[in-house]
Amino acid sequence: MLWRQLIQHLQSEIAFGLEELPTKQSKLVDKSEALAALENEFKNCQMCVLGSTRTKLVFGAGNPNADLMFIGEAPGFDEDKQGLPFVGAAGQLLTKMILAMNLTREKVYIANCLKCRPPGNRNPLPTELATCNPILLRQIEIIKPKIICTLGKFATQSLLQTQDSISRLRGQFFEAYNTRVMPTFHPAYLLRNPADKKLAWEDMQKIMKELER
Ligand code: URA
Repeated sequence: MLWRQLIQHLQSEIAFGLEELPTKQSKLVDKSEALAALENEFKNCQMCVLGSTRTKLVFGAGNPNADLMFIGEAPGFDEDKQGLPFVGAAGQLLTKMILAMNLTREKVYIANCLKCRPPGNRNPLPTELATCNPILLRQIEIIKPKIICTLGKFATQSLLQTQDSISRLRGQFFEAYNTRVMPTFHPAYLLRNPADKKLAWEDMQKIMKELER
């Protein structure tokens, strides 16, 4: 827009009662639009074999302006049917963890490393993770969360590019992607190993403290 047009536009906005520039609002619109455009770009993705077996692509859900982003492994049975992340049994536990942090699913953003379900919920293959990774990195780039919480071994190892075990990595912040990454146990693991929920809660408390800073 030319300066003259910009000035005319602002003068008419002021005439209609504009008191301050809507920067925050514009940012929100920009991020949700950018995410919608990215989702649209990949909605028919066939970059790996999972494209031919999925029911629905699970792009991600939540607040595009979130300070906290959770990243899981891959959609499971329920997610594949609904096209939404973490809506099955593990998702119910993740929801409880989010509520315990005095947050809601609407205030955070939830995505997975893989956007399509591996058949029978098998582990993601390294080639599938590598193929899908650019989509996740673009989501992170758009959302710019203050903190990313990686859920479980696959998300953690893939994002931090390490082979170290989740037991070793969890509970500490790592600097990556212009943000701080906190690995913790995957909710599905916690359902099988409830004694470790205590450790996961310690990790969530560290995140809460960091979000308050
Ligand atoms: N497990 C994941 O890692 N992601 C989901 O969306 C559901 C279960």
